[in-house]
Amino acid sequence: MLDLLFHNAKSLHFQNNIDIGVEEGIIRYIRDTGSEMPAAKRIIEANGRVVLPGFNESHIHLEKAYLLNKMEKDAHSLQEAIQMTAALKMSFTKEDMARRASKVIEKSIQSGVTTIRAHVEVDDILNLRAMETIMALKEKYKDQITLQIVVFPQEGIFIQKHVQELMEESLKMGADVVGGIPYNDRDQDEHLDFVFRLAEKYGKPLDLHIDDSDNPEDLSILEIIKRTKEHHFENKITVAHMTSLGSVEHNMARDIAEQIADARINVVALPATDLYINGRHDKEKVRRGITPVNTLLSQRVNVIFATNNIQNPFTPFGTGNILDVAYLFAEVTQMGTAQDAETILDMLTYRSAKALGLNQYGVKEGCHADLILLDTKSLRNALLDQPKVLTLYKKGNKIY
Ligand SMILES: [Zn+2]
Repeated sequence: MLDLLFHNAKSLHFQNNIDIGVEEGIIRYIRDTGSEMPAAKRIIEANGRVVLPGFNESHIHLEKAYLLNKMEKDAHSLQEAIQMTAALKMSFTKEDMARRASKVIEKSIQSGVTTIRAHVEVDDILNLRAMETIMALKEKYKDQITLQIVVFPQEGIFIQKHVQELMEESLKMGADVVGGIPYNDRDQDEHLDFVFRLAEKYGKPLDLHIDDSDNPEDLSILEIIKRTKEHHFENKITVAHMTSLGSVEHNMARDIAEQIADARINVVALPATDLYINGRHDKEKVRRGITPVNTLLSQRVNVIFATNNIQNPFTPFGTGNILDVAYLFAEVTQMGTAQDAETILDMLTYRSAKALGLNQYGVKEGCHADLILLDTKSLRNALLDQPKVLTLYKKGNKIY
């Protein structure tokens, strides 16, 4: 007998409504809904509503969320945001970081997220304090949500005293991914050399903040493509922002997109931050400041989106509901058709799972039963109506 059965559910990539059966936390049964219903200890009547694998929040900064009430003034550029946040960090205690990060985690769970990839900062101010704090939260919330931790050198590696050792120490503590930010260091190549070497040494994937500007000459992506091939890191690299590509002449941008697809590099658009920070010096033809999503999609790049920041100098917006970001992304990329809505849901689920390297993910036999029931009967309305998540299961356990 099954432990759990979702009966008569609509799901992404299935033509007909389905029954999804779970045993010991794993999906063991998927059939079209028909007259027969298998025996199960608990039956959830979806009644035609949408059931999806849990959403993935693919890029977020937990310890620097909710900073607005600590700021004396607002930031007006990326450089100012970096400087102001660095100054605010002086006052971060572990308790304060844990409180703000927990608020983001809990809001994520309520919005249907079952995996978060968090970029956690190490630098000469925080040392390992943020890393220790988020590691403790990873353990605390492990039955409710999977937390992947990226060790992130926001303040640079070589312009700080101890970041090389701190990154290595974080990987020994259990960080899952090597982060990087080549544009915020004294030398981009030196920075890339270091993070690629570290990822190789510890057998970890890389997740890099890159080319976050309107300047079409900021193209560290070309160097990253080259290194991805040299190191045989295909499928192990994710880059975020890459907004400068949106200012590159179209034929060249399309050619670069083709190379990104060929190197199997995942791209994360961060619409809330990218729209807020970029394009602000344009007096006419104001750019949207987001990576050229449609060009990337046309070349079959695995492009997804995520929240990045919630209510801080980089992004003084954000509700913590991933569906709000999906809605913003849809509007700014002009992805408005019914098919586009499904593509966007695919980005929140299957496509982001691929970028995050999640195993046994999806509505498929043999996968973890990380499942959400949304209060809508239409996939398109799962985006348009921002439906409530009625129930969430993590590895077959009911979270709510
Ligand atoms: Zn970020």
